Amino acid sequence: MHDPLRPWLESRLPTALDHLRRMVEINSWTLNPAGVDAVGSLTAEVFASLGFTAETIASTNPEFGRHLVLTRPGTGPDAIAMVSHLDTVFSPEEETRNQFGWLPEGDRIYGPGTHDIKGGTVLMWMTLAGLAEHDRALFERTTWQLFLNSSEEMLSPDFGDRVRERFAQGTRAALVFEAEGRQDDLRKLVVARKGRGTWRITVRGRGAHAGVQPGRGANAIAQLARTLESVHNLADPARDLSVNIGTIRGGSGLNRVAEEAVAEGEFRAFTPEVWDEALNQLLALSGPGTVRSRNDNFPCQVEVELLSRSRPWPRNTGTDNLYAHWDQAARELGFPLAPESRGGLSDGNFLWDAVPTLDGLGPSGDCDHCSERSADGSKVPEYVLPGSFVPKAELNIRALQSLLAS
Ligand SMILES: [Zn+2]
Repeated sequence: MHDPLRPWLESRLPTALDHLRRMVEINSWTLNPAGVDAVGSLTAEVFASLGFTAETIASTNPEFGRHLVLTRPGTGPDAIAMVSHLDTVFSPEEETRNQFGWLPEGDRIYGPGTHDIKGGTVLMWMTLAGLAEHDRALFERTTWQLFLNSSEEMLSPDFGDRVRERFAQGTRAALVFEAEGRQDDLRKLVVARKGRGTWRITVRGRGAHAGVQPGRGANAIAQLARTLESVHNLADPARDLSVNIGTIRGGSGLNRVAEEAVAEGEFRAFTPEVWDEALNQLLALSGPGTVRSRNDNFPCQVEVELLSRSRPWPRNTGTDNLYAHWDQAARELGFPLAPESRGGLSDGNFLWDAVPTLDGLGPSGDCDHCSERSADGSKVPEYVLPGSFVPKAELNIRALQSLLAS
């Protein structure tokens, strides 16, 4: 096979990595809206060379930067949506403290967002540039919409709503450019993600002098400990239901029976049924508790609140049909490929039931959300493998050609 696509993509890699370097050198922590907007402007500039026009949308949270939508209208009936985000989890202070910045070393490039997800945005660019060069007719005929969330790392649900109301008629797929999974040579695309619920449990008891009138007290900490035992036991690995108690606080002095205690946490599941059941079991813990005052049986009161809801993205035929095009293309290119159900959330959770969605179309790398580095190698910061860009772009291009021909 003398296919000119691969060498052409190789020739564009230095430009792609230069785009990536410029994006990584701008701090775009979710709570640095000026930086997020600057990455948005740079991204718009990078895609303008392919004929995309930019629109920005304010986030509902005024502390966040603006979402970015890039569009290139096509002449035919089909449309493809691609999804990435502009923000990272690293504050400027953390980047300085850990001297964490753009650093090519060996076969890796370290840096904030190299893998999650600026590398994904650049892979999106390589995929589209390759199509524009090697299958101009298909590139021109397709409407392309690129959606970049300003605040994915802090889960702003408004982004999903803005995207869903903007999907073009005839949208065949929403392709999310989060990093691929990798097990040695096996590449993994994401076909399902757990949904997540976050919760708070507040226990109100009755305070008392711990030495003089202990029998008057109803100890909120003792009650919360009992309630949390039940919460902990809700986890069910056989059904992929995870439950985590994340934080706890309570009481105000060693000589006082604690009148209030609060814990927060989350739970996650792959299917709406398991997710709903877990929520109902949590909410059922509300009401009078079993810890009571000895004097007059005054009960601690347990209140359970759901703080946020991110729906599961379960395995579904829309996603499986899309995956089949990537699987076929991977066979033709000689890559081993496998589907993966992932525990973490992405914007795919908010889109899959509007348009068939596939995730993990970005590059390979590791250590997302980590910035520390230790000399003994036990702490490694986020990095991307630049060698993964060309093969993945080629795979995405072949699969899109197959999808849009069908
Ligand atoms: Zn992330």
